[in-house]
Amino acid sequence: AENESKNFIEEIIEKDLAGGKEKTVVTRFPPEPNGYLHIGHAKSICLNFGLAEKFGGKCNLRFDDTNPVKEDIEYIEAIKRDIEWLGFHWADEVYGSDYFDFMYECAEKLIEKGLAYVDDLTPEEMREYRGTLTQPGTESPYRSRTPEENMDLFRRMRAGEFPDGAKVLRAKIDMASPNLNMRDPAIYRIVKTPHHRTGDRWVIYPMYDFAHPLEDAYEGVTHSVCTMEFEDHRPLYDWVIEKCECEHVPHQYEFARLNLTNTVMSKRYLKKLVDDGVVSGWDDPRMPTLSGVRRRGYTPAAIRDFCERIGVAKAVSVVDVRLLEHCVREDLNAHAPRVMGVLRPLKLTIENYPDGKTELLTAEDLPGGESTHEVPFSKHLFIEQDDFMEVRPNNKYFRLYVGGEVRLKNAYIIKCERVVKDADGNIEEVVCTYDETTKSGGENSGRKVKGTLHWVERDTAVPAQVRLYDYLFTEQEDGAYAANPNSLTVLKNAVIEPHIRNAEKGGRFQFMRQGYFCIDTEDTTEDKLVFNQIVSLKDSFAK
Ligand code: ATP
Ligand code: MG
Ligand code: MG
Repeated sequence: AENESKNFIEEIIEKDLAGGKEKTVVTRFPPEPNGYLHIGHAKSICLNFGLAEKFGGKCNLRFDDTNPVKEDIEYIEAIKRDIEWLGFHWADEVYGSDYFDFMYECAEKLIEKGLAYVDDLTPEEMREYRGTLTQPGTESPYRSRTPEENMDLFRRMRAGEFPDGAKVLRAKIDMASPNLNMRDPAIYRIVKTPHHRTGDRWVIYPMYDFAHPLEDAYEGVTHSVCTMEFEDHRPLYDWVIEKCECEHVPHQYEFARLNLTNTVMSKRYLKKLVDDGVVSGWDDPRMPTLSGVRRRGYTPAAIRDFCERIGVAKAVSVVDVRLLEHCVREDLNAHAPRVMGVLRPLKLTIENYPDGKTELLTAEDLPGGESTHEVPFSKHLFIEQDDFMEVRPNNKYFRLYVGGEVRLKNAYIIKCERVVKDADGNIEEVVCTYDETTKSGGENSGRKVKGTLHWVERDTAVPAQVRLYDYLFTEQEDGAYAANPNSLTVLKNAVIEPHIRNAEKGGRFQFMRQGYFCIDTEDTTEDKLVFNQIVSLKDSFAK
């Protein structure tokens, strides 16, 4: 909308363009292919692709694959699928590893200029020498090596002469800097692991803080946005660009990462859930991954709307996950066709309705909408167990009880006459009579009763399995998260009205009075319909 406020990065870009500092906008989304994308990444995707769209620039998809150990081709495919699903299109698909030659040349340039040296300290020693926030660091005894010596050693590192971890190349900056990132950070290390794209061509790999600015420079990125943790890496980012004499000068800007209540968003942690079998996979519908929420039934439009509403700022905060659910619910309320589904069926018989008769009633697909579908009705129905009590508990109870009346949605007013119980005293069946004159849309349809129940006709009912979800994590009193042992409930005996047979895998529906549900794309087969609960009907988000 026109009156929406601009985020601070948009304001910076407007100034840059107006003042002639930049002529165009180039952004990038730079995932490390070491896991599946989650809702937090969606914020970065919407921001980076959104800026490019808004200012007529471009956004690259860049796989930050400079660490050969953790990366996997499976993740690359999944990441591309998720971005496309959100509705974004990247300009170029690029890989950090495409620039290894360029990065290597930059490293040699630093060595020539006396701005980088090969260090033989062990990782533990290096940590000790680095100092602390209150104590300056100590210079490594190898810091005074000549450029010639460093060049020779660095080339031998590249040639594979030294084992993993034996030496690193460090930037020569300032061991007394108040910013720990500037205390001679390592920029190249030895890793003798084959890389998924470059094979065994390289045994030395650039560190993130060296690689990232060079990747940005190489691609002509103008606004490199990242999360707040990198704020005090920015001086190093600028140092690399300056000292490597990059032709194009990109700039880094930081924003607060998305945190959500009841949600853990760290790829490492999510991977552990998958590896430990706590969930069925990266796309388990309870997972905060984009593949998880897609399978759950969340819509791309709802996620984009959510990212728009939370905005972009520098202050770190935790967003209520119910805002996300609110966005999903709003989208589904407008678009998800209504059907009747009974999750925990109870038999209901209308004793004065003719045997063997079936009539077709009319139901709206969306409230107040034009399109409708037919719903069969007969003497034998199912209602929800939760909608019946033998004895009315109080005068605020308007569902069905013996002696009480309700309207069956799109059908008739019925009255409960009695119940049939099994040998253990459990209610097996509810016996009712109906008032033929009260058919919905008919002459006497105006007769009022307080309660309206959904129902499904017995002989045309489609059996289904329905999975209800609670949060995968619950927040403890101390603010920590614990796995929720009750995050999944499987209802095996649900029944849905026969109209559902026309639906496809992934189809989203409102089960009237029950919530929004999606046909599971993985577990649904020809003769087994499986639904995932997308979100409840009730909105508990305080606006
Ligand atoms: P994680 O810690 O979950 O593994 P990451 O930052 O290591 O995340 P990357 O693959 O490096 O994952 O992320 C790609 C981009 O997405 C980065 O620019 C990163 O800043 C951004 N990003 C990751 N998590 C979030 C989040 N929660 N909110 C906003 N942006 C995020
Ligand atoms: Mg990262
Ligand atoms: Mg990470």
